Amino acid sequence: MIIAPRIRGFICTTAHPAGCAANVHEQVGLVRSQAPLSSNARNVLVVGASGGYGLASRIAAAFGGGAATLGVSFERQPTATRTATAGWYNNIAFEEAAKAQGLYATTLDGDAFSDEMKGTVTERIRSDMGEIDLLIYSLASPVRQHPRNGQRYRSSIKPLGETVHIKTVNVEKGDVHEVDLAPASEEEAASTVAVMGGEDWEMWVDALAEAGLMAKGFRTVSYNYLGSELTWPIYRNGTLGRAKEDLDRAAKALMARLANLPGEARVVTLKAIVSQASSAIPVVPLYTSLLFRVMKDARVHEEIIEHIHRLFATQLADGARMNLDEQGRIRMDDWELADDIQEEVRRRWSLVTSENLAQLGDLEGVRADFLKIFGFGLDGVDYSTDQDPALGRMV
Ligand code: NAD
Repeated sequence: MIIAPRIRGFICTTAHPAGCAANVHEQVGLVRSQAPLSSNARNVLVVGASGGYGLASRIAAAFGGGAATLGVSFERQPTATRTATAGWYNNIAFEEAAKAQGLYATTLDGDAFSDEMKGTVTERIRSDMGEIDLLIYSLASPVRQHPRNGQRYRSSIKPLGETVHIKTVNVEKGDVHEVDLAPASEEEAASTVAVMGGEDWEMWVDALAEAGLMAKGFRTVSYNYLGSELTWPIYRNGTLGRAKEDLDRAAKALMARLANLPGEARVVTLKAIVSQASSAIPVVPLYTSLLFRVMKDARVHEEIIEHIHRLFATQLADGARMNLDEQGRIRMDDWELADDIQEEVRRRWSLVTSENLAQLGDLEGVRADFLKIFGFGLDGVDYSTDQDPALGRMV
């Protein structure tokens, strides 16, 4: 079948197998063009491995550091009439590329929040890998079925306290307008913490500890976004921010638990990117569009893989002097939050309208990054040729 993008709101319901593979190969190529990473992380577990920051982390660990990787993701297989989700194709492309380099790579698809998946993963580590040196926690999910109390929690992306009146953009239409975002109830805020907070990260570390699968010097990182004050009303001061505060709590608790191993747990604050998860957050695409223009003009813009490669090369490398803040988080958002960048983004934010967005911002770049997630718009891919959505596999 010929596969074209089918966009519904902030999601694309189709994915292009060859385009997703090209996206993975592009990232692999970038990592391989850099000096090898000096890393002791031989065995790496990535939870949330099939897209965005998790996929880039897996690529950096494998192709930069020569690591064996086990990935966990929640992706949809193709059917006779429907393509798979992009992550499903990404996983296949990653595994094939890794195996071609003689690197161990296995992906387990299913619900990372469940005890069952944790059990399957620990069994697989024991049989195939030995011990884990690095656990990357890069999950972004709208729901969590709690494995102990059986409750199904749903996250809300809302402000806290009062209604927020703020600028946003409809990415498809390009119209900049103001919206009223109603605040979350306490219950919605608590549910968001249950989904996106630190409890599941702790459960993953506990599962590895109980199974005796953590190597000496074990490290784990969980990804966070703090961002600019322009997005604070919906992000940092909202339900997501509350959930992410819980990551800081979890990091401290894990640090204490890992001290004797010895091991380490840290939150990493990363820059704003276009991902499936971030596209669903109101306000963020407008901010990202202005930010990308300003960072590109200042020549400090990074693609996802460049950003993550810098994390591995400068912060996670052996003996690296980490750029830590007062909470002990690894700060990778320093380029985004630099005073000159933020000052310029703030100036443009106050001026931006539907008419001048093309000059002040990089909506085209945001749109291109969005399509790329689903395998569209990649160089060297012939989108007019027939694709086998099942990639010839029985599904
Ligand atoms: P993404 O949507 O690109 O990827 C999410 C991953 O989680 C996918 O691999 C998906 O399959 C997996 N997943 C979702 N639910 C799952 C489940 N129940 N079981 C197993 N796997 C599941 O997300 P992203 O934007 O790369 O976000 C990853 C992390 O990075 C998040 O913690 C996010 O807050 C953080 N972060 C994102 C940004 C940004 O701008 N996107 C910035 C800084 C930090």
